[in-house]
Amino acid sequence: MIDVILSRDELHKVRSKLERVALVPTMGNLHDGHMSLIESALESYREVFVSIFVNPKQFGPNEDFEKYPRTLEEDIKKITNLLESSSHYSESKVYIFAPSSILEIYPKDFNTTITIKDVTSKLCGAQRPGHFDGVATVVYQLFALINPEAAYFGQKDFQQCLVIKKLVKDLRLPVLIKTIATKRDIDGLALSSRNQYLSDEQRKEALSLPSKISQIADILKTQPWLEAQGEINEILEEVIKDKRFQYFEILDSENLKNVNDKTKEVLIAGAFISGTTRLIDNETVEIKYAR
Ligand code: AMP
Repeated sequence: MIDVILSRDELHKVRSKLERVALVPTMGNLHDGHMSLIESALESYREVFVSIFVNPKQFGPNEDFEKYPRTLEEDIKKITNLLESSSHYSESKVYIFAPSSILEIYPKDFNTTITIKDVTSKLCGAQRPGHFDGVATVVYQLFALINPEAAYFGQKDFQQCLVIKKLVKDLRLPVLIKTIATKRDIDGLALSSRNQYLSDEQRKEALSLPSKISQIADILKTQPWLEAQGEINEILEEVIKDKRFQYFEILDSENLKNVNDKTKEVLIAGAFISGTTRLIDNETVEIKYAR
């Protein structure tokens, strides 16, 4: 069963009758990546809220807020089809919270911003000033409104996951944060609502991003960190020369600091501009040390 909720008043009424629920925050235009988050939530929760809100505060002035695809009818259909696809979901209920107006989330004269430091200083945080303020501010509001026991996020937005975990830890919010693996197309490109902006040629170009990331991941899966440096540097040199990479970094996945001798797992993360479309991707690998 599915229910579409358009206002926070309606949301309060529905939520007050329910006990433990999960939340999957999205900006809609749902693809299989989003659907895998919803499926994971439905594995553990009979009642799942999916929010669909294109959050203006997480877009920069020259970004794609206006043209971001808004496809509520199709999104509702996708979730309906999922629930009808298996008797497994016969008891499940998904509440789609799709605020009918930005004012439902940001009332007139809204003037509060949640800023998380440190973990936002690199990667997307460095390239998109204010982006993670917008993310943290909207996610906090969704948590306060829906009071979920767990919330599901995609590893594709790895830095976003770290930001949300820090938000929850610092403000002691009673929400479990679940991170779900990145879903990819068969060619290896991570699914993204922005992939539809790409021409065939631009899509081919964009494959450099997952390809360079997985080349480095493959090296680190087989070789100890120090011994791998020569081969990794060769790849990094190619990446540096290619101006389409907005950033490409290998960092400690726990805190996004430089890798040091205490690092257990690295994050290999990049942003790539194909045409005018900006795409991000990453992989994490546990690193080996020579004995
Ligand atoms: P968005 O609608 O882009 O804000 O994404 C909503 C949620 O879906 C975020 O937690 C994303 O990390 C997640 N997500 C987006 N793309 C993928 C993907 N390819 N695989 C898994 N999760 C994803």
